[in-house]
Amino acid sequence: MAQEILTRLLQNGQVEEDISKTFRIGLSGPPGAGKSTFIEAAGQHIINEGSNLAVLAVDPSSSRTGGSLLGDKTRMQNLGVNPQAYIRPSPACGELGGVARNTHEAAVLCEAAGYKNIIIETVGVGQSEIAVADMVDVFLLLLPPSAGDELQGIKRGIVELVDVVAVNKYDGDMKPAVRRIAAEYTSALKFMTPKYKCWRPRVRRISSLNNIGIDDLWELLQEFRHEMINSGELLELRRMQREKQMWSQIEFSLIESFKKNPKVLNNLSEVNRALRRREITPGSAAERLLSVLNQL
Ligand code: GDP
Repeated sequence: MAQEILTRLLQNGQVEEDISKTFRIGLSGPPGAGKSTFIEAAGQHIINEGSNLAVLAVDPSSSRTGGSLLGDKTRMQNLGVNPQAYIRPSPACGELGGVARNTHEAAVLCEAAGYKNIIIETVGVGQSEIAVADMVDVFLLLLPPSAGDELQGIKRGIVELVDVVAVNKYDGDMKPAVRRIAAEYTSALKFMTPKYKCWRPRVRRISSLNNIGIDDLWELLQEFRHEMINSGELLELRRMQREKQMWSQIEFSLIESFKKNPKVLNNLSEVNRALRRREITPGSAAERLLSVLNQL
């Protein structure tokens, strides 16, 4: 049913045809970085410019903890009541593949419904960033002014994905720390192989709470978008993303149906037992289960 609606929208030309109509922004950052505060501030700026936005989240942590790392969406209270903004509650629990797919489809529907800016938010802890990077035009990393191990981990994995870094809380006592982190990231990004011909990742200092630098950052994101459109790289990016999504969807569906296959289920406990007793290796266990599909 969902696929039918999406296909029909696509055929009616309501989805994705004009890349300059919609802007998809991936926003990542560790808990406490100020993501919801930033979305409030940026959202207000977007609405003041006469545009609108939808905020979605990829939050696979909910499957493990039963709770949501992004917190419930009573945050963003001002934006939540503005008719120009749609905030989707945190998605139901599930595995990343499913959650990512739902989020992507929700984004497509929001675009068809007329939302021009789609912010897809995620916590900076791993796999979900890659899933988000595969469905957005620009990847924005929001950082708090705290150094330490947590930030180091984030730096390694995510820096390869980012187009723009914003170091938040550039106010009061935290200004020197923000300056330091911003300088660190500016030099770290210099050594990265560029993702695009037309763009080198940039770093900005902002205060979401005091609305400092938000307009400047939004302008920078628009500059990225224009460069990407003019060079043809955005069109190419979206093409590649569609293909990747097709394959990840295939992988996801194949694994789902494999796990439910009666032949697999019939053999599962025996193979599992042998695996637990270390009579067979994980590799041969996998081979055994895969081979039952070919049995008559
Ligand atoms: P999230 O977990 O990334 O969504 O972070 P929140 O938006 O919930 O913010 C975490 C905390 O940081 C809250 O207490 C915010 O008030 C505070 N905060 C967010 N942005 C700023 C900022 O620009 N300056 C200061 N000083 N505090 C901020």
